[in-house]
Amino acid sequence: MRIPQKQLVSRRSLLRRAAATAMFGPLFQATKGLASPGAPNLRSAPGNLKITDMRACRVAANYDYPIIKIYTNQDVYGLGEVRDAGVEGIALILKSHLVGKNPLQIEANLRRIREFAGQGRMGGGYSAVDMALHDIAGKVYGVPAYSLVGPKQRDRIRIYCDTTGHKDVKIYAERMLKRKQFGFTFFKMDLYTSLVEDRPGAIGPDGAATDKGLGYLCEYLQAGREALGTDAPIAADHFGHLSVKNAIRYARAFEPYQLAWAEDLIDWRDWRGYQQIRSATTTPILTGEDIFGLDEGFRPLIDNHAVDAIHPDPETAGALIETKRIADYAAQNGIRTAIHFAGSPVGCMAAVHMAATLQEMLAMENHAVDIPWWQDLIKGIEKPIIKDGYIRVPETPGLGVELNDDVVKQHLRRPGYFEPTPMYDDMIISGYSPGGKWPHVDANGKWCDCDWDL
Ligand SMILES: [Mg+2]
Repeated sequence: MRIPQKQLVSRRSLLRRAAATAMFGPLFQATKGLASPGAPNLRSAPGNLKITDMRACRVAANYDYPIIKIYTNQDVYGLGEVRDAGVEGIALILKSHLVGKNPLQIEANLRRIREFAGQGRMGGGYSAVDMALHDIAGKVYGVPAYSLVGPKQRDRIRIYCDTTGHKDVKIYAERMLKRKQFGFTFFKMDLYTSLVEDRPGAIGPDGAATDKGLGYLCEYLQAGREALGTDAPIAADHFGHLSVKNAIRYARAFEPYQLAWAEDLIDWRDWRGYQQIRSATTTPILTGEDIFGLDEGFRPLIDNHAVDAIHPDPETAGALIETKRIADYAAQNGIRTAIHFAGSPVGCMAAVHMAATLQEMLAMENHAVDIPWWQDLIKGIEKPIIKDGYIRVPETPGLGVELNDDVVKQHLRRPGYFEPTPMYDDMIISGYSPGGKWPHVDANGKWCDCDWDL
């Protein structure tokens, strides 16, 4: 006769379980614990946690926000975001490599998908998965996501504010002033060469500003300085990719305005060109918003001291773990880090958690100052999200935010809100994936419809 399993549980094993529960109590607060803080979640068992699904939606904005959810077998889920102006498919094609795996094995899961991460928007899938796994792990362990990657170095993150250009210098200056009135303390100007294209003699035959044209561009910097004051950090971007020689001319022309940095003067892959530019000017030089990974992209810029500061976007660079690795490596080599960001509040808060742990950082970008509903996309944190030019680091589990479903649904780029994704159940991309059995003569000379008989 079979003895019921529960009668086999001895008093000693009950004591062992009680001791384990006491030791690992915080681990058991994944789902119920979120609904009623402090209540142990006896349904959650981190060792048995499995990824079951990945779904997405896309928010229409100045740069669209592809947002993903990774689901598990224990109700807890994680939010992540693909790089702004990317597409959710770059994350969803990774689903088949993750389903069935324990989401708490964050680095093992990321190693599994790293070969599919590319540069630019193609780093967005890997980055979204990193964010969602940290959201899940933080919720399961009952800790903020930052604490999973390092000790907190700061309670709030300084935000810098991009300003789109206008050919009228006065209107441009008014835009800058408005940002100061919002409370920002760090600014960036989009200084397109095209701002001065209508002025006689401003553009040379190679499409770059002539010395005369650079004088006109500097009128915008002068107006920005007058609007914001001499002490306000002002960066400048969007010159168009220049030749190294033109980049040096631009950077030298900007020297009197003591910019925080001049951004992306040439293609980021040309670290030798950056090295030449940096050594020829006192204007700080920065690049990096389209680079994924330390080994895949940032290392030559850092090892060769080719720039004054790097500019990773956590939605391309590798989100929490890899962006921190990049920035801390840069800091160890005397190179500073500013963070590029133009996505939704989901990716923004993931970046905030990462930035909280950095050894050193200048400021993090926000590109949604003119989008009043941007911060309504999420709930769970204090509003306004940006206060006096800073974002406070959340102390709630995971990323600390949930989607405000009603608002997100009002701003979808295309129909569908985290709809099922069976089309991604099979591997779409794979490094090595033998398909299984096939008809052939085996090692014993027998015909079979079988797999390798090793
Ligand atoms: Mg830029």
